[in-house]
Amino acid sequence: MSQRVSSRHEGDLGGRFLPFGNVEQVGITITIPREAAALPSTQHAAWMLINLLARLDGIVHKVAVRCPSGIGLSGRVIPLASRDLDLRSALVVGGNAIGIVPVVEELELGRTIVVGPARPMSGGADLFAAGGGWCGGVSLTGAGMERLDYESPLPFGPYIAACIAAAEVFKAARMQPGTYAAPPSAFYSCWSHSAAELPARLGPSNIELTLDASLVGVGAVGSGVLHSLWACPALRGAMVLIDNDPKGLDMTNLNRYSIFGRTSVGSPKATSAAGALSDSSIRFSAHDREIESFRLSTPRVVSAVDRNTARAAIQNQYPARILSGSTSDLRAEVLRCGPPGVGACLRCFNQPEKIPPDQELRSRLKTAGEAELATLAESAGISLAEAKDWLATGSCGLAGARLLPLLRRVEGEPEFAVGFVSVLAGVMLAAALLKDCLPHNEPLSEARQRATFQFFSPLARSNRAASFLRDPACPMCAPDSIACAAWARRFAAIPVVGP
Ligand SMILES: [Zn+2]
Repeated sequence: MSQRVSSRHEGDLGGRFLPFGNVEQVGITITIPREAAALPSTQHAAWMLINLLARLDGIVHKVAVRCPSGIGLSGRVIPLASRDLDLRSALVVGGNAIGIVPVVEELELGRTIVVGPARPMSGGADLFAAGGGWCGGVSLTGAGMERLDYESPLPFGPYIAACIAAAEVFKAARMQPGTYAAPPSAFYSCWSHSAAELPARLGPSNIELTLDASLVGVGAVGSGVLHSLWACPALRGAMVLIDNDPKGLDMTNLNRYSIFGRTSVGSPKATSAAGALSDSSIRFSAHDREIESFRLSTPRVVSAVDRNTARAAIQNQYPARILSGSTSDLRAEVLRCGPPGVGACLRCFNQPEKIPPDQELRSRLKTAGEAELATLAESAGISLAEAKDWLATGSCGLAGARLLPLLRRVEGEPEFAVGFVSVLAGVMLAAALLKDCLPHNEPLSEARQRATFQFFSPLARSNRAASFLRDPACPMCAPDSIACAAWARRFAAIPVVGP
């Protein structure tokens, strides 16, 4: 598999996108007006937008930051930069720590996106992007954006604005000529899970609670969950991180793993995440091991895994509450599992993948070229000669033990994945986790378990929460089973920890 950063967002989605080689790369200027620069909502939106654009290898050639100097950071905003820096320096340092698209100061290039409360601009704006509290989005004119909760320190709305703005940049560059039309405005609220042309000011301005949860899968969606929780100023408690990707972070992950930069390549994901976010008010404890051999002990479990076998392994432990996030093409999706026997469980509609036997994996690799074998061998930390020897003999030993997990992993890789979709799924999932700790009736709820957001049409009616019932063929949540009865008891007894 290619190790290019762009390899996961190069696909053409069945012809909807131009061939990647035909894309005309763009420069983007992010403008942060002085009056708005100190607001946490502006800082969160500006950083996440730069974070996402600076990962669009092959689409964005440069990001310029126009921001007044001397503005302090409002809290935990940029995990990839020191909190002693001022906002402008931290945005540039953080963007360049990703190590993909150059981020520079004070240049005007290409399209201009103004971040924060919209007001008439001297230089003009191609797009306004802003969020506050739980809602965020974009507008060509800025009309109606004064409704947003700009004083809220929560990152959710600002991150949603960044995701939708980055998606519009991506779509404008990649959609077939004549098929792209910028929406005049589009907003999404992860409090009500609704999309609209005007922002919705719903939900509390801040959220203070003590977490007791686990996150399984510190990949693209998991990074978005962690980035969001880390940036909330009033969360306490503990979160267990579990990930077992045998090759650790690789170059192809960097297009969408929002908390990591180039220096983390090669490191195990759970440990690296806990290290990157160690200044959090939440205690993160990392476990670089597979979920199949890990005993989950928290009442709430967040699933951000990308394999159905891992989903089944989580469901098989029947934690009281499972919240799940996933992506497909340009669609983000979150699910609150249950109620047991009624709503979908994590195994419902997710047939575990058939992992080919080791012998078959070895046979397939024999037909691969020398370059592919060399790349795999390097990832596995063995020599090309050792890899060839194992292919020829199949003998037990280090080479096989290191190569086989990689080969099994490659089999399960999804085709297309891009940062703004993964981050939005992570934001929706983090919001769902916090809302689940509070007494309220907004989705995701027992009646409306699933929410989806499709970036192709940000205002589509389907971008909302709806009921999602169990798969009648699912073997793990049959209503009359003993396992389902045990799950139901836990589900009903789960603590509400918020005010
Ligand atoms: Zn089920």
